Amino acid sequence: MESVIVAIDGPSGTGKSSTSKAVAAELGLSYLDTGAQYRAITWWMLTNGIDVDDPSAIATVCDKPVIESGTDPLAPTISVDGVDASGPIRTREVTSRVSAVSAVPEVRARITELQRTIASAAEKGIVVEGRDIGTTVLPAADVKIFLTASPEARAARRSGELKGKEATDLAATREALIKRDAADSGRKTSPLAKADDAVEVDTTDLTLKQVIECVVALVEEKRASK
Ligand code: C5P
Repeated sequence: MESVIVAIDGPSGTGKSSTSKAVAAELGLSYLDTGAQYRAITWWMLTNGIDVDDPSAIATVCDKPVIESGTDPLAPTISVDGVDASGPIRTREVTSRVSAVSAVPEVRARITELQRTIASAAEKGIVVEGRDIGTTVLPAADVKIFLTASPEARAARRSGELKGKEATDLAATREALIKRDAADSGRKTSPLAKADDAVEVDTTDLTLKQVIECVVALVEEKRASK
């Protein structure tokens, strides 16, 4: 069977990660979480004392960390300089700083190149999730999906993912999420955006199973016509 490239974009809390992993696993494809890469480089900046409010300081050092992504959808991994970063990249501190780092053009150029290398090495194909995959990273992707959901649904889902104290304040989660989306959509270089040829799926009233079925059907349709 020919290899297939699937781009899944959208803001956070739309079910992007769960959908992308499940679709990749069901279809025997690799999986890449590009948000994890931006989080990883942000974590490296913070642990190395780089001022993340200074774009030129970020640009100067952004090719230093070695970022590696494991693309098995059943056990994806992310490491920085050989150290497992899957826990630290999900902290509130990294989440609140990542948009500032990902807006720096030099960071995007570096991470985009990494993403294209990983995608072209995936023999059977890959599901790549992010914000600019269909528009910038892989504009020739075979299938492009743009997931959306109401701010309420997104905040509730994000809250469900957070643990303990961080999960208690739904209003704060909603506010932080809206702020991050605004920064990601408003940046100059490669903002969060729907590609003209992407299929938009509003997940507000859909179960995860329904979203997965919808995306799998779109990919199978494309494969059959190739
Ligand atoms: O998907 P996730 O919420 O983990 O993404 C974290 C951040 O990484 C986003 O808020 C955004 O700033 C950045 N990102 C990006 N481009 C992508 C994926 C993520 O700028 N393709």
